[in-house]
Amino acid sequence: MTADVEAAQATPSLEVRGLHKSFGTVEVLKGVDLTVAHREMVFVLGPSGSGKSTMLRCCNRLEEPDSGLILLEGDPVTGKGVNLNAIRQRIGMVFQAFNLYPHLNARKNVTLALRKVRGMSRDEADARAMEALTRVGLADKSENHPSELSGGQQQRVAIARALALEPQVMLFDEPTSALDPELVGDVLAVMREVKAAGMTMLVVSHEMKFAREAADRVIFMDQGRIVEQGPPERIFGAPEHDRTRAFLSRVT
Ligand code: ADP
Ligand code: MG
Repeated sequence: MTADVEAAQATPSLEVRGLHKSFGTVEVLKGVDLTVAHREMVFVLGPSGSGKSTMLRCCNRLEEPDSGLILLEGDPVTGKGVNLNAIRQRIGMVFQAFNLYPHLNARKNVTLALRKVRGMSRDEADARAMEALTRVGLADKSENHPSELSGGQQQRVAIARALALEPQVMLFDEPTSALDPELVGDVLAVMREVKAAGMTMLVVSHEMKFAREAADRVIFMDQGRIVEQGPPERIFGAPEHDRTRAFLSRVT
C-alpha cells in the first residue's frame, strides 16, 4: 500500500470534536466527540430531546454549531470560508419526513440536484437516477408521483436521491419512524444493501433489532452528551451506564 492510501484510510470519514450547540439559553449539545470510520455504520440511540437530530444536522450545517470542529475526510465542515454546497453534496441526508417534491415524479426527484447542482445533462442525470431507483427496488415506479407511492416507497426514493449524488457519508434521522410497521422492513433492507456496498453511515433510529444485527457500533446519547458507546452486542447485552440500561429497558 502506498503512503497516500494508508493516510487516507487512517483519516476518519467523519470526525466531530467538542461540538456545542444551544437554542436560546438551552444547551442541547454539551461537547460531543465522535468519529465514524470508512464503511462503518454507527447507530445513535437516545431518548427524545437528547440532541440526536441536532447533532446530525450540525454535521451538514443545517444547524450552525456554536463551537467545535467537524471534519469530512479531513476537510473542515465548520468554520468560515467553507463551501457549504460542496460539503452538502458529499454528505447525504435522509429525514423522517422524506421531504420529496410532491409535484415531481420519482425520477425527477432524483435528477433535480444532479441537474441543478451537478450540472449533468438530462440523459446523464436520467441514467444515474434510474440506476439509483433500481438499487432501491423502484425502477418500475420512476414515473409515479410521491402521492402515488407508499411511505416506504417514498423513503426509498429519498434514499435513491441521496445515493445518486454519491456522497461520502450518509446521515439517517429516524428514517422509518413515520412508516407503517409493514413498510419498515423494505427500507431497512435498502439500508443494509447500502452498507454492504461500502457506504459510511450515521443512523439515528429506534429499530433496535436492526441496530443489533447491522450496526458496527452503537452510541447512546442523553442530555446532549454521548454517555457510552461500543459494539451492539455489548451495548445491548451489557450496558455500563444506568441511563443506557433505563433507556433500553423502556424500548426493548
Ligand atoms: P432528538 O433528536 O434527540 O429528539 P433534538 O436534537 O431534536 O433531539 O432536540 C434536542 C433539544 O433541542 C430539544 O429540547 C428540542 O426541543 C430542542 N430544539 C431542537 N431544535 C430546536 C430549534 N430549532 N429551536 C429551539 N429548540 C430546538
Ligand atoms: Mg430527532
